[in-house]
Amino acid sequence: AKDAGRNAFRFFAEQMNADTHERFALQTRLSGALERNELLLHFQPQVDLRTRRITGAEALVRWQDKELGLISPARFIPIAEESGLIIPIGEWVLREACRQVQAWRLAGLPDMLIAVNMSALQFRRGDIVDTVRQALQDTSLPAYCLELELTESILVGDANAMLETLRRLKSLGVQLAIDDFGTGYSSLAYLKRFPIDKLKIDQSFVRDVVEDADEAAIVHTIIQLGKNLKMTTVAEGVETEAQLAFLRVEGCREAQGYLFSRPLPPEEFYRYFKASASG
Ligand code: C2E
Ligand code: CA
Ligand code: CA
Ligand code: CA
Repeated sequence: AKDAGRNAFRFFAEQMNADTHERFALQTRLSGALERNELLLHFQPQVDLRTRRITGAEALVRWQDKELGLISPARFIPIAEESGLIIPIGEWVLREACRQVQAWRLAGLPDMLIAVNMSALQFRRGDIVDTVRQALQDTSLPAYCLELELTESILVGDANAMLETLRRLKSLGVQLAIDDFGTGYSSLAYLKRFPIDKLKIDQSFVRDVVEDADEAAIVHTIIQLGKNLKMTTVAEGVETEAQLAFLRVEGCREAQGYLFSRPLPPEEFYRYFKASASG
């Protein structure tokens, strides 16, 4: 019977193309990654454009697999989303980010904002408000230190239900940011209805902002929109001084990108932040 099962599997496997096969293999490994302690967080600094001081960091998940090495979230987050594994993974990321930042605060680092990426499934299944409340409670991180990054795809759908969820999150005291702003298909109408604190300007707009007048116009418009709606704007993917200069002139508040730092392992971020805070 065992052989028959194996043969059936082999037959099944041969039907799949190489891509599907790879995804299936990754998904199988990923399902054990949490228990095996193979996930870790890197932290990318977010800086105030005027002072260049660090205001916070974005937590970015990494997967260290024994055989496959360090796997980028671009490869495994889509698989985690399709398989539902993003629920336990997302919860781990949230708790680990809160735990780490609270540990840094207790070690004497100044207050910082830690931004955590949310997936649509986390909002559709389970009670995200309860999950966030519990993570804050268990780690003792003050709510004002936590920011949730929501993509526009999370916000589409039942606007009234979403408004209610966002209000409950806001009443916990956390910050809400829209990630990859401008790349989604949602309407601008939700922006003024939803209690959003921050717009993250997608790196695809920032990339050519110096050479391309269209991209410059888009970034200019997003920054003005943020100002008018009393939201902070953060530019993502800032790699050059020329991009930084443009953003500063336009009045963008914060930036994140390789110009300042790549996402760093915890110990390196700690040193970087400590040096920035005292320098
Ligand atoms: P994202 O949320 O847009 O994160 C920013 C990505 O841009 C990160 O890639 C970061 O390393 C990269 N980046 C930062 N600065 C620069 C720059 O100056 N130039 C360029 N070219 N890239 C820059 P990363 O870490 O590979 O993450 C990729 C995506 O995976 C993230 O995009 C996010 O959508 C997703 N992701 C990462 N961690 C999590 C997580 O914990 N939960 C969920 N649901 N998604 C996550
Ligand atoms: Ca993000
Ligand atoms: Ca982003
Ligand atoms: Ca992105």
